[in-house]
Amino acid sequence: MNKKDLKRFEKILQERKSQLMQAADNTREEGLGVDQDELHDEVDQASTESGQQLRLRLRDRESVLLRKIEKALQKITAGEYGVCEICEEEIGIKRLEARPVTELCIRCKEEQEQQERGYAT
Ligand SMILES: [Zn+2]
Repeated sequence: MNKKDLKRFEKILQERKSQLMQAADNTREEGLGVDQDELHDEVDQASTESGQQLRLRLRDRESVLLRKIEKALQKITAGEYGVCEICEEEIGIKRLEARPVTELCIRCKEEQEQQERGYAT
């Protein structure tokens, strides 16, 4: 991958990272904004709980993505970005554009998915 492409992906990843950080801040503020009386009201408890679970799930997904973005940014710095972690071949630019945090080339990704489904041993 040439330097120009690397810079481009670095920018994309940094933008995603700051978007995620902002989203995480909003989630925190929302959480603090929950009225304490509401939490103790048994009638409303069920809906409050499911809302909190949803937020927790979102936070989980966001933090996984955030870790992936940070790893990808480290790889850019180390000059290892865009290389498949299994076969060490270059991951295609098109695949990276669709999914900048990907760590595997399409071939290895497909093999991994098949293994996860239990088709291969
Ligand atoms: Zn591969």
